Amino acid sequence: MPDIVFLDSHLHLQDPRFNDRRAAVIERAVGAGVARMFCNATRQSDWHHVLALAKGSHAIVPFIGIHPWYCDTATRDWQQELTEILETTRCGIGEAGLDRHCSCDMRLQEKLFIAQLQLAIDCQRPLVIHCLGSWGKLFDILDSQTKQAPMPPIMIHSFSGSQEVMQRLVKLGCMISFSAKIAAPGQERLRQVFLRTPLFRVLLETDAPDQLHVDISWYNKNPEINEPSFIAALYAFAANLHHMDLQDFCGQIWQNGTIFTDTAFSRR
Ligand SMILES: [Zn+2]
Repeated sequence: MPDIVFLDSHLHLQDPRFNDRRAAVIERAVGAGVARMFCNATRQSDWHHVLALAKGSHAIVPFIGIHPWYCDTATRDWQQELTEILETTRCGIGEAGLDRHCSCDMRLQEKLFIAQLQLAIDCQRPLVIHCLGSWGKLFDILDSQTKQAPMPPIMIHSFSGSQEVMQRLVKLGCMISFSAKIAAPGQERLRQVFLRTPLFRVLLETDAPDQLHVDISWYNKNPEINEPSFIAALYAFAANLHHMDLQDFCGQIWQNGTIFTDTAFSRR
């Protein structure tokens, strides 16, 4: 293994946009030192693809769940299918959450999110949360659902909320994952939130193939889509913001990722 290893804490390698290049993308990532990738399902129909990808590479950690955008594609037996996968597979739950800006009915989003949170609590599996415009609702649900039982490990992916929201999430024990948006022009407020997030709670992600911030000069080859190998530049940028040695910074984030997935890893 190289001296510096990177963790990409959120991406979607199963996305059809990778169909003509998936093996090369994974090879490039591993070659660039990306030794762990948290690959998130978004809907029931991609669960087995995500699991197969994880079987094919030690670097890929599967997260199985239903994204708020795709709540209305879940079949009647989705919960049973997910429970069976959790019983037999070392995986986390995700991507789940709440999104006020998408067309899926909010009540349905809440129902599916609560069910996935409950499974994460019951099985003590790490849970990846997507939350846009719904922080109040998210805190209400987390408060009520975790009153009786210990919180599962939770990551808020692609965080772009306020400092107050970040502090509340940190208090609850959540990991906060940042994308390359922290390096984009005009994101000074988010950069300050990133810098104020306790380092032992920080994760970094590409969200590939999404979130290609074309205005960031690292992507000098004009790629069409984002890919995990690009995360090396985000680590360099973030370590620099913290005035930290790159190796020390990467070591800390790697450790955070390991703590986040520990329960799933120790199952088998
Ligand atoms: Zn995502």
